[in-house]
Amino acid sequence: MKKQNAHSLSTDRIDKIANLLKNSTLGRPLIEFGLMKEVNIVLDNTLPTAGFFSEGGFTEPTITLNANLSDHSLTVALAHELCHVEQSIVSVVPWEFKHTNDAIKLTRIFEASASTFSTGVAYELAEKHKDSRYLHALEDWEDDDIRNAFLKARTANIPVEKDINAFVAGFKQWFKKRRRVSHYDKAAFECHNNVRNTPFLSLTFNEQAGNLTFKHMENFGHVLTHGNYLKKLMTHTQSWKPRCILEIFQNAYKHQK
Ligand SMILES: [Zn+2]
Repeated sequence: MKKQNAHSLSTDRIDKIANLLKNSTLGRPLIEFGLMKEVNIVLDNTLPTAGFFSEGGFTEPTITLNANLSDHSLTVALAHELCHVEQSIVSVVPWEFKHTNDAIKLTRIFEASASTFSTGVAYELAEKHKDSRYLHALEDWEDDDIRNAFLKARTANIPVEKDINAFVAGFKQWFKKRRRVSHYDKAAFECHNNVRNTPFLSLTFNEQAGNLTFKHMENFGHVLTHGNYLKKLMTHTQSWKPRCILEIFQNAYKHQK
């Protein structure tokens, strides 16, 4: 990964938080994805959100993080954005889908997965450094309900990276906050429409893309020691499966009508 050179203070902060991730079990593979894609990391003190990842296209892939966050929050925010980097490497991205509904649904899955995985990172860092501020970071972008679901499902005597149940609980919780779901639906809807309406980008649009299927979820979230929790979630036969699948696949986006 490259860091901005303009402000050495920013570079120092980014180095510090990237090193924290690099020295953790769950954060290390995320850093490796960042390196693989040569992602640029910059701090911005005017950002309305905690951070975002831009794939670039004509510019280099960049993670922008909110400079006003504490170092603890910045670390967890970086983990969240690096999950999006992983997704961009191992999966199709939402705007490659012909149908807006597919783009919206995949966006939900991307966000639920990134929020859950970064919660796992926050948990590991909080335990390792005996510092609950990593877990409080989730409150900065209102993912504390995901954190609480994760903590409730956590089995104390197994390492966090093997605790599939905690990750599944966090993932499922993402869909339960209506305000969050509609916020990302709206963003995905607008992004997808922009891509469709851009003359050049529309040429790169994959018109052959089929509908979103379970297959698309098997490729990311796989950095856990015991395999991809999303794959388990989709193939498991436990009773909660139908409801979760319904929430992902059947909530058509209202703005389209
Ligand atoms: Zn995100």
